[in-house]
Amino acid sequence: MSDGYPDDRSVADLKGMIEAARRIVFFTGAGISTESGIPDFRSPGGLWTKNQPIDFRDFVRSEEMRRESWRRKFAMEGTFNAAEPNRGHRAVEKLIRDGKASSVITQNVDGLHQTSGIPDDKVIELHGNATYARCLDCGTRRDIAQIREAFEADGALPTCVYCGGIVKTATISFGQSMPVAEMELAEQETLACDLLIVLGSSLVVYPAAGFPRLAKQNGAGLVILNRDPTDLDVFADMVLNEEIGPTLGAAVGVN
Ligand SMILES: [Zn+2]
Repeated sequence: MSDGYPDDRSVADLKGMIEAARRIVFFTGAGISTESGIPDFRSPGGLWTKNQPIDFRDFVRSEEMRRESWRRKFAMEGTFNAAEPNRGHRAVEKLIRDGKASSVITQNVDGLHQTSGIPDDKVIELHGNATYARCLDCGTRRDIAQIREAFEADGALPTCVYCGGIVKTATISFGQSMPVAEMELAEQETLACDLLIVLGSSLVVYPAAGFPRLAKQNGAGLVILNRDPTDLDVFADMVLNEEIGPTLGAAVGVN
């Protein structure tokens, strides 16, 4: 376990790999956002160990489950809305802005990569986005603040004003199929990169976690920067069990 201050050798090694790469792709998970104060739902003691996640089929089938789902969502709103991109997000943004990295594939739903300044089309969200909602039938986007206002006024559950469909946060729930376009784009990006850098993912959630392995099989370098060891460490060219912000920030020269 690190004390939060990466040693100079780790930073220098990471810097060297970044400089030698032609096209980097980032793969990010909860660990990059815990440094912004967003809890890791899946970790021991995390929300999902206390509250069983609501399966997609139950959400669609049951009004009671939809009510519970929105109640939980609004209970988390303060934390989500207060979170701001940290040094790790800023370092990723810099490498994308400089053209050194082509995109970031993320398991996170907090939108912090976009908030850090990365254009939407360079953020590939495998698990969707919790900062807005969508109609499950026609896809129309809805503002969560408005949904909350109605819900808290009289318990109204949101339905689509255009088609009457069920409205849900734009996240991919358990039991919901992975987004096709995003999965395809993530695969293309993975196959086009010569260095994939994992930031803060324990790499246990498949199919998402298959991308680092795919990159390696395709001949790219693989760096895993995560607080704890992962199952894919044996495949990696470099494993750093450090904090993300201080390590990547120092390697990239971003504060
Ligand atoms: Zn609709």
